[in-house]
Amino acid sequence: MINFNLLTLFPEMFPGMLGQSLAGKALARGDWSFNAINIRDFSTDNHKTVDDTPYGGGAGMVMRADIIEHALLSLKKPSRNIYLSPRGKVLNQALVKELSQEQDLTLLCGRYEGVDQRILDAHDFEEVSIGDYVLSGGEPAALILMDSCIRLLPNVMGNVDTADNESFGSATNGLLEYPHYTRPASWTDAKGNTHNVPDILQSGNHAKIKDWRREQSKKLTQAVRPDLLKKNV
Ligand code: SAM
Repeated sequence: MINFNLLTLFPEMFPGMLGQSLAGKALARGDWSFNAINIRDFSTDNHKTVDDTPYGGGAGMVMRADIIEHALLSLKKPSRNIYLSPRGKVLNQALVKELSQEQDLTLLCGRYEGVDQRILDAHDFEEVSIGDYVLSGGEPAALILMDSCIRLLPNVMGNVDTADNESFGSATNGLLEYPHYTRPASWTDAKGNTHNVPDILQSGNHAKIKDWRREQSKKLTQAVRPDLLKKNV
């Protein structure tokens, strides 16, 4: 069971896609929960302002520390605080695994140019990025972080071994996963080219299949993400 507190200007973005499929069923079962808090509700002026111009000049607006703090302090229980940010450490499967074991996570979603640095310093926010590109807001990043954690909760995926066997998992040695095939064994595409499932996968020889998959996994990783091989030799 994990609860996500979401500090956001767009609470209606949650649970979004996570109301569907495996995550949606897990939400209905109570395997996880969320509490989307509208930071704007904690604004103190008539215009419900949450941002202001940056000290030192420059483009855009910055979300105010005092208002975010009021929203944060409305939470009953303190928890691990995360600010979704392109400046953060990039989310990977090891961090996902660690976060999925927390009972409560508070996710701060920025907008505009981001948030006043002092809120991050005052409340020990860890900065987590979902990749080297810039989104217009932290909400999609929060949904991705949540999705990756939820699927690791007990009961959410049918087979408990699945996660370990996937890309970056312990059974794949942190490498990318091998390719998958299903029926039909022979398929002709719309361009008239025929594609057959590799014979080895139809051989029934499980030891050889395992070796083949390990080999494919290494080859693919070498071609696409050689950095992962270096980490795992
Ligand atoms: N001025 C910021 C910068 O250059 O680092 C970018 C601000 S961005 C337009 C607005 C918000 O989107 C950020 O405060 C952050 O919460 C979120 N965001 C953008 N890119 C992200 C990423 N790669 N990972 C996580 N959050 C991101």
